[in-house]
Amino acid sequence: MSAATPPPQGHNRGAHYARSRCAECGEDYQPTRIDAAFCSAYCRKAHNDRRKERGLALIDAALEWRGKRQKGGFLKFCRLVDQFLRDDRERKAAQKAAREARKKGQTDA
Ligand SMILES: [Zn+2]
Repeated sequence: MSAATPPPQGHNRGAHYARSRCAECGEDYQPTRIDAAFCSAYCRKAHNDRRKERGLALIDAALEWRGKRQKGGFLKFCRLVDQFLRDDRERKAAQKAAREARKKGQTDA
């Protein structure tokens, strides 16, 4: 922002925080709040929906493990967590590949 630009008016309207990377889609975006983690409501909802879905699956696995005390219950719980971690790594790798392909397309054009 140059010295000639007037200060933002109202509730953080036009406030300029450092550009950030969306915690869901991995795209760079301009936050409008200091505590923003997502580029859009869509990404915030997608992130929170996945957390909710995973939480419910973990609760079921934990209750089965500790409630029924079945052999291998903890292993099932750990496999679920491992699957979440794998999914996150794959999702982030795909996002990174897409960003790099776009960047390459821009420089080639
Ligand atoms: Zn996003």
